[in-house]
Amino acid sequence: MAELDTGDVARLFRQLADTLGAARDELCRLDGEIGDADHGIAMAQGFTGACSALAALPETGTLADQFNAAAKGFLNAVGASSGPLYASAFMRAARVAGVRAQMPLAEAPALIVAMAEGIRTRGKAEPGEKTMVDAWAPAARTAEQGMAAGWPLREIMARVREAAAQGAESTRAMVAAKGRSARLGARSVGHVDPGAASAALVLAVMAEDWSKRDTA
Ligand code: ADP
Ligand code: MG
Repeated sequence: MAELDTGDVARLFRQLADTLGAARDELCRLDGEIGDADHGIAMAQGFTGACSALAALPETGTLADQFNAAAKGFLNAVGASSGPLYASAFMRAARVAGVRAQMPLAEAPALIVAMAEGIRTRGKAEPGEKTMVDAWAPAARTAEQGMAAGWPLREIMARVREAAAQGAESTRAMVAAKGRSARLGARSVGHVDPGAASAALVLAVMAEDWSKRDTA
């Protein structure tokens, strides 16, 4: 059976840093419409910081060490609210990934469920409040459903990716109730939430990477 090992996780974070780095200006533009225009910088620097922290780990590190290091690296690199939110996500993922050098690839969707829980617990935002939760929550629900139903990983991740993209787009019609953009109230309607947009990118990278590995 296919496994997800520490080399795979290191590669995943490099891909996340590349993708979020490439999306930096667009995410800043979205944040400029309803926030303070720094979200792209936060996500790009956060994943670059996470990658540096992973690179500094000894060869003998476990998956849990990697996600915990990513949490610290992300948090230290980011002053904006996405810092603690993603740090909490990675710390939850560390618990699921465990003190082991590899995990079954089929269990990878559980990492998404854990990350969504970390973000929800930390930010206390509910779905419908125009935050990254509106992408993470439907993605996590889809991941849980797919695992319970025993769908192949590729199928689960295709649907997770779609759920996150739709969730991000659905924020356009919402009134912001959490974070900086909540100050705008009804004026936030008509703009996609930047944190939800970046969450859809993060989940798309995970989907692409794990689907490629899924040879079942
Ligand atoms: P800041 O608002 O401090 O500048 P960022 O620009 O990095 O932080 O991130 C803004 C994003 O953070 C928002 O688009 C939203 O998705 C997310 N966010 C803000 N507050 C919360 C919260 N309490 N729970 C979940 N997500 C939140
Ligand atoms: Mg901002």
